[in-house]
Amino acid sequence: MATPRIEINFKKIAHNAQFLKDHYATKGIDIIGVTKVVCGDPNIANILLKCGINILADSRIGNIKKMKDAGITAPMLLLRTPLQSELNEVIEHCYISHNTEFSIIKKLSKLAINRSSVHNIILMVELGDLREGILPADLEGIITKIKLLKGVKIVGIGANLACFGGILPNDENMGQLSSNTADVEAQLGYKLKYISGGNSANHQWFNATRDVKRVNYLRLGESIYLGCDPLTRQPIPGLYTDAFTLVAEVIESNTKPSVPIGEIYQNAFGQVPQFQDKGLLNRAILGIGFQDVMVKGLKPRLDIQIIGASSDHIIVDTKNINIKVGTELEFDLNYAALLAAMTSPYVTKIDSSKLYERTRVLQNGGTKRSRA
Ligand SMILES: *Cc1c(COP(=O)(O)O)cnc(C)c1O
Repeated sequence: MATPRIEINFKKIAHNAQFLKDHYATKGIDIIGVTKVVCGDPNIANILLKCGINILADSRIGNIKKMKDAGITAPMLLLRTPLQSELNEVIEHCYISHNTEFSIIKKLSKLAINRSSVHNIILMVELGDLREGILPADLEGIITKIKLLKGVKIVGIGANLACFGGILPNDENMGQLSSNTADVEAQLGYKLKYISGGNSANHQWFNATRDVKRVNYLRLGESIYLGCDPLTRQPIPGLYTDAFTLVAEVIESNTKPSVPIGEIYQNAFGQVPQFQDKGLLNRAILGIGFQDVMVKGLKPRLDIQIIGASSDHIIVDTKNINIKVGTELEFDLNYAALLAAMTSPYVTKIDSSKLYERTRVLQNGGTKRSRA
């Protein structure tokens, strides 16, 4: 079977999505399913919908189109505030979009009027992470101007933390979003449907808070797919952390010195590498590299160590295991590695339930055939 590949366990994703949906429902929060890290994979999108998630969200129009072309009819939210060059497609394919710029909202309004439709917008509020967001002090002014437009309707406000600035979602910033909600509703004269408090990083806040106040939606990607809390990258109890498995293949296996021989200059990526002399090592080279995945985000499932990589190779110290050429090795992926591997056309994606059995390498160097 082709390598490198990502084996996707749909059952584990479904379990995680269902678990999180039920968990957040205990305090009245509904889930929006984020598909960007899986590039809008329609099979995965359908699993989220089957778990009772009603709205899907992606940052890229191309992914949203892909899901619609596959027959998915659920409402789509555009997460990244729209590019001026894609506004026609935003109107055509998205039920709602996040927005922060009046000039863009005005253009959306014009395009929607031309089609005799109304486009829904969620205004993103800056709560301190310093990525997208209208400064709270500017909300009233921008809403005054938006109220004069036809063709767009403000249906919610939202915030996003812990993405760029690494800012912790807590009762203070979530409370601020709730009080902004009250002000916006007073100005608009109607209730907002979506108070969209954040992403997977809101998990600890949600568990700790006594009162979620007005927050009624969270947009979840990472915690569904990787079962972890992005603030600490610790597993969330009850969730699977291994729904995705990266499989790569050994193309050379040898015992070689731990320090390169000759004068050390820059390597292919502009670094002057340094090596510690550990004597001879069992080294395996895998047929996968930076063009396939973010190597730093991989964790071998065996007790072996990645010692370096280049465009098309990863070099591992296999310690006391002597691994044969042609052997497949398994890795866990963090968010960045999953994003890169799902996006790379060189990495095959397969449904793990379609693989009946697979040969796995054991820590003692032996192999075992087991269910994939
Ligand atoms: C990516 C993204 C999310 C989902 O974040 P996760 O950490 O994967 O849950 C939510 N909101 C916005 C605006 C995003 O860009």
